[in-house]
Amino acid sequence: MHIVSRQEGVLNKVARTFKRQQHDKHGKWVNGYDSVETHVDLLDLGATPTKVQIDDIVGHSWTDFLCDECHKDAEYLVALRDGKKVIKVCRNCLNSALKLLNKETK
Ligand SMILES: [Zn+2]
Repeated sequence: MHIVSRQEGVLNKVARTFKRQQHDKHGKWVNGYDSVETHVDLLDLGATPTKVQIDDIVGHSWTDFLCDECHKDAEYLVALRDGKKVIKVCRNCLNSALKLLNKETK
């Protein structure tokens, strides 16, 4: 298990994710010039863009960093691995899980 921040888990990957989602299977931009300009704007933010900078360009749905258990937005999540599958969980859910475990196994 390890901690993943919003910065490394989402923000640093937005330009790359945007480009991948806006290309068809032939490598062409699906929304034309607007997508190209938006991608350039995202690249211009550099390697470590802030949430506010990205929100201003493409909206907060691109910067949400959601817990896989409660689906609430968080700055940091703990990544738990089950084989190749990774589940990312917030502090509140981890605390709830620990309380449950302590209560059930006393
Ligand atoms: Zn949670």
